Amino acid sequence: MRRRALRDEPPFFELNPRRTVRQGHLLPPLDVPDLDPAAVLPQSLLRAPVEDFPDLGEHEVVQHFHRLSQLNYAVDEGLYPLGSCTMKYNPRINERTARLAGFADLHPLQPDDQVQGALALMWELEQALKAVTGMAGVTLQPAAGAHGELTGILMIRKALEARGDARSIVLVPDSAHGTNPATASFAGYEAVEIPSAVDGTVDLAALAELMNERVAAVMLTVPNTLGVFEHRILEISELVHRRGGFLYLDGANLNAFVGRALVGRMGADAMHINLHKTFSTPHGGGGPGAGPVAVSEALLPHLPVPRVVREGDRFRMVWHDPNSVGAMRGYAGSFLILVRAMTYIRSLGAEGLRELSDVAVLYANLIRHRLRGAYHLKYDAPSLHEVVFDDSVQATRDVHNIDIAKRLLDYGFHPPTMSFPLIVHGALMIEPTESPSPEEVGAFCDAMLEIAREVERDPLLVKSAPHDTPVRRIDEVRAARALKVRWQPEQG
Ligand SMILES: *Cc1c(COP(=O)(O)O)cnc(C)c1O
Repeated sequence: MRRRALRDEPPFFELNPRRTVRQGHLLPPLDVPDLDPAAVLPQSLLRAPVEDFPDLGEHEVVQHFHRLSQLNYAVDEGLYPLGSCTMKYNPRINERTARLAGFADLHPLQPDDQVQGALALMWELEQALKAVTGMAGVTLQPAAGAHGELTGILMIRKALEARGDARSIVLVPDSAHGTNPATASFAGYEAVEIPSAVDGTVDLAALAELMNERVAAVMLTVPNTLGVFEHRILEISELVHRRGGFLYLDGANLNAFVGRALVGRMGADAMHINLHKTFSTPHGGGGPGAGPVAVSEALLPHLPVPRVVREGDRFRMVWHDPNSVGAMRGYAGSFLILVRAMTYIRSLGAEGLRELSDVAVLYANLIRHRLRGAYHLKYDAPSLHEVVFDDSVQATRDVHNIDIAKRLLDYGFHPPTMSFPLIVHGALMIEPTESPSPEEVGAFCDAMLEIAREVERDPLLVKSAPHDTPVRRIDEVRAARALKVRWQPEQG
């Protein structure tokens, strides 16, 4: 597949180089006095004229952005096996419901009696997430997984403060997502690392040694970032609770067991759920997302406000509560993301959700089975929804995970997550999700196997990839550090 080259699409400002007069809109004649804005508005509110602002027709503008969109890779284009990110398909019906005027055109300060449907949807979504987790309560406020973590740890801090001592440490496994230690430290705790055992799960003896009365919480990812379930989670939660700590679960990997297991029964005190991962909704490119947090009885009094309560068949927003951690976000969170997630849950039902995780796990193990031998597996045990290979076989020919990832682009696939988790050197972390067809999963495996053969035959071909993409290898560090988005008019 050869796509258009980036250089073929000039920047917006260069689309009409001779500056011929074109127009993208037609406005009716003015029926008010034609005033000079400078005569009526304060100087500080006036925008300076944009020099050389392009004149373009509507069709040209649409074509420009459509072409740009085709230079990129998207879930709607093909398999997007970015491990830990759960890049699943966003069914179009989600977009239909999110555009219904009764949801899309609301104002967050409308009185409760005008927005009963929206409040009912939020309340029902809370019930659904309680059912999925087996927990006592849910806040829908957080904007993303990382924000959910912060919300959960702040609730834990509040509960500990109510007991008289907020404590000072949060324990985090060495395989954790970087947001976990970042959250701990943002919430005022020292993040201390728990080493992994040889099978990739938490080293229980090490945890027992680290767990003491200074530890506020242990943050665990279930299944962990290797896709391996913490099979001793009951011992872990018992150990943490015995020393007065709380168990926080990172639920970003809920896709692995939704409909199959309840974290409430595992002794969890809080777990965030990435709606934009497990429950579809558009995802990637920076948001918006939603990271609701489910909590145990112990944290129930500290849930953020505002929150929805049900009174008979009416719903009401509660704005104040002295025990609450307060507002983690304005108003009702990413409301239209909540609408999409609820649509997804309702479309699938309990049976469908269970089937989804079954297929996601099946696909990951299919990939594990087909690629083992060609790629090295540091932790070679059956996993759930994702599988982590590494590049150690290919590295003997000086081909590394980045080269394999880039070569995959030539085959029309988005690369897996690279270099994460940190405990696997040269990691290639593959998460197919349940979205692709079996044929597409097969084609992905074929491409990976072909690349492994290419590494044997012609390593330079792989090292110089990609060959067929709109841009070749860019200097990612320089692109991030010296970002240039402003058009500079040619001199002279
Ligand atoms: C995605 C992810 C997060 C962070 O979630 P965001 O919604 O991106 O903030 C945290 N932990 C794990 C394991 C994840 O995969």
